[in-house]
Amino acid sequence: MDQHKPVAASEDRRDAPAGEAPGRVTPMMEQYVEIRAANPDCLLFYRMGDFYELFFDDAVTASRALGITLTRRGKHLGEDISMCGVPIHAADDYLQKLIALGYRVAVCEQTEDPAEARRRGGKSVVRRAVTRLVTPGTITEERLLEAGRNNFLAALVRTSTSSGAPEHALAWVDISTGEFRTADAGAGGTAALLARVEPREVLVADRLAAEAEVRSAVDQIGAALTPLPAAYFDGGSAETRLCGFFEVKSLEAFGNFTRAELIAGAALLAYVEKTQVSKRPRLEPPRRDLPSDHMRLDAATRANLELFRTISGSRSGSLLAAIDRTCTAAGARLLAERLASPLCDPGAIERRLESVQLFVNRPALRADVRVALAAVPDTVRALSRLGLDRGGPRDLDSIRAGLEAGRSIQRRLVGEQIAPGHPLTPLAAELAQAGDTLAENLAEALDAELPLLKRDGGFVRRGFRGELDAVRALRDESRRVIAALQARYAEACGIKGLKIRHNNMLGYFVEVGAGHAPALAGEPGGVAFFHRQTMAGAMRFSTAELAELEQEISGAAERALAIELRVFDELAGAVAAAEAGIRACAAALAELDVAAGLAELAVAEEYVRPRIDGSSAFRIEGGRHPIVEQALKRSGQRFVGNDSDLGASADGIAVDPAPGSATETEASGGPGKVWLITGPNMAGKSTFLRQNALVAILAQAGSFVPARAAHIGVCDAVFSRVGAADDLARGRSTFMVEMVETAAILNQAGPRALVILDEIGRGTATFDGLSIAWAAIEHLHEVNRCRTLFATHYHELTGLAAKLPRLVNATMRVKEWKGDVVFLHEVVPGAADRSYGIQVAKLAGLPSSVVRRARQVLDSLERSDRSRPRLTVDDLPLFASRASEPTEAAPHPALAALAAINPDELSPKEALERLYELKRLGG
Ligand code: ADP
Ligand code: MG
Repeated sequence: MDQHKPVAASEDRRDAPAGEAPGRVTPMMEQYVEIRAANPDCLLFYRMGDFYELFFDDAVTASRALGITLTRRGKHLGEDISMCGVPIHAADDYLQKLIALGYRVAVCEQTEDPAEARRRGGKSVVRRAVTRLVTPGTITEERLLEAGRNNFLAALVRTSTSSGAPEHALAWVDISTGEFRTADAGAGGTAALLARVEPREVLVADRLAAEAEVRSAVDQIGAALTPLPAAYFDGGSAETRLCGFFEVKSLEAFGNFTRAELIAGAALLAYVEKTQVSKRPRLEPPRRDLPSDHMRLDAATRANLELFRTISGSRSGSLLAAIDRTCTAAGARLLAERLASPLCDPGAIERRLESVQLFVNRPALRADVRVALAAVPDTVRALSRLGLDRGGPRDLDSIRAGLEAGRSIQRRLVGEQIAPGHPLTPLAAELAQAGDTLAENLAEALDAELPLLKRDGGFVRRGFRGELDAVRALRDESRRVIAALQARYAEACGIKGLKIRHNNMLGYFVEVGAGHAPALAGEPGGVAFFHRQTMAGAMRFSTAELAELEQEISGAAERALAIELRVFDELAGAVAAAEAGIRACAAALAELDVAAGLAELAVAEEYVRPRIDGSSAFRIEGGRHPIVEQALKRSGQRFVGNDSDLGASADGIAVDPAPGSATETEASGGPGKVWLITGPNMAGKSTFLRQNALVAILAQAGSFVPARAAHIGVCDAVFSRVGAADDLARGRSTFMVEMVETAAILNQAGPRALVILDEIGRGTATFDGLSIAWAAIEHLHEVNRCRTLFATHYHELTGLAAKLPRLVNATMRVKEWKGDVVFLHEVVPGAADRSYGIQVAKLAGLPSSVVRRARQVLDSLERSDRSRPRLTVDDLPLFASRASEPTEAAPHPALAALAAINPDELSPKEALERLYELKRLGG
């Protein structure tokens, strides 16, 4: 039946389900309890007239979560029934809140007209049924979805092949767009794959859901974990289910799926059917994704590099926010997907870059295309709502607008004479694949102003269907007759304030002030008024004539709506028939949007096209940090570009090789260099490290990069870690996190990886930390042999260059000026001679007495340093300090440090760091 059919409120929410003697259960409560029991893990939205009501514990939970009033209504088995409700028209907003808070909601509708229930007998309850489960991974409403991001539902499967080998797979689907993918996750790859896909909801078998590792991987990406019974993951029926859904005999045409992938895909379909209550969304056939095609980026690296959100969780300030110049929601989603999964195949990357290049080269084309794109609505999401019978007139109009824009851009592209082999050429054909008739038909049928819901009617354009125009004329005519009737009655009764009104309960009625009522009793003007209702200050009447008119009017309105709904279904049917063409057009538009958007970015921010190949080169000239650069720009400051060269060749930072010539070692993919960056705090070490990782990711995603020139041999993985990340909230010591993550890199980074380690070892005592950093560098140099950037404040490590041939020392240039440091943010060869910590502390506003004292301590330390071998226990700062200055009358350094602390100004993390420091100072 039609979901949107209006159901009149006859069971008034105010007096149900109340009023029974204690111990007795009303028929409605009986129905409620039964439906509630069938949906145990959801909040139940129980439809009553124009409200969704929640009862019992649901009411308590929802009223708290939504901040709405909790009331009580009657008793159930002697207990008060808690209740709260949300009005239908605002239900989406409440749903969105609940979903965001991690709840699942079962939406229970009235499935018959209350009049039908009354016909069955006085006590009959309106039939109701759950028409849909709303879960984070299965939403389709525009208002519940984020426009620029996919909303993936994923299923995670672990099984074994016939030979007993373990098999891992992830399948994911966005029912709001129809995308459907599967991937063989490989043994250790599940977490990284989850981090890449970032589903909102992950389905797993009960058994898997109990495993801590699975829980933590799902938790890390902030997704909802939905455990399901084993029956959902039945290997025997998986293929049949998939074939059945896509109406094919075999899945071979779609790809060569593993058993685990089939099970994951089938579990998704079963769950989608369950939540959509047997409505079938339109999905694209599953596409197999090969994780090896994509750069591997684990969750920690993604978080660390702030690809999609900053460490503090905000979208603005992320890499995506900095580079997104797309004009459409679908374009934004495609860009996000590309950034989440950079490619490894130089040829495929080149094709993307070539598309960007064309739009860089042709600014007029870029501008025209972007103007046309700005008018493109979210076609695929409209298509999906229509497919689930949840669409409205505006969704039809979205299809129209999308097709029209596709056609106009296609004409523009054809006029451009793009070379036949160019990657943009096939897109032009796809833009026009749906043909023109559907768009023309939609344009003729739909009015300019459209209601959200089809049941509101009034969306079919006048002149489109003669039958409808005739009924509408009749309806409008009757309205005029009512107005005339009101004037006539007012005149006949001599009551100026007489009004003919309408409501859902009474229909049309005559209303007069209570004082005038007697005048109507005497059949004024020969009209017989019969009484209908007495209100506080008014009386309501009807007449035979009015009742007849009412019949005519409501009949006409009903007929008009019926015709409109028929037109809607015809149009939706035409859309369904043209689905493939609509999808092709939408996909081509999204691709153009990404290419033109990246070109816009490249021109506006002065990015260059990177050279990408299969070598092991990594040479960036004048590289910049895309996010920091834009932030500085906003405050009128300039970012200082820096070079890096991590390729296998022997050329160091200052060497300028012939343009375009990869040296032989690079080409043969020899081991990469390890750059060790030293320099004071705030000099720009972390920024430099990250910018190199971001340049690699941008380049392999198919974007131009913030640099003067860049040559990158594809990186199959990027790992990025920062020492002593603050992870107290998750209950692990920061140092433990640091070591777990460092271990992951040392164990996993292959020769094609790019590794960024920022102050690893900072989270523990000096010598521990130094030793760990030391050993990690040796391991990276000797075993991983990958391209590496390592920032450290342990100057002792620079000595490693003597032993490790591919270790390059680089440092951040600083200038000292009248006792202050000036950061030049320039990376230069060599080691930092000192850390300027005291100068930085002074800049930070440490009391001058402390700064003075620190200088004294440092002087003595430096003096003692020269007389002792490096890296002995005697180097521990305070032993040395005490030994050399036993008679110094100043207070103990721990006391001095204590005095310098202002507890009110410390963050919890800083407080903890101070505590460690004091402990160390105290010996
Ligand atoms: P470090 O890791 O050495 O302590 P950061 O990388 O955190 O230093 O940089 C500190 C600040 O310096 C950054 O927030 C940024 O504002 C500025 N900065 C860093 N690198 C540059 C640069 N290349 N050009 C201009 N400003 C920079
Ligand atoms: Mg830093």
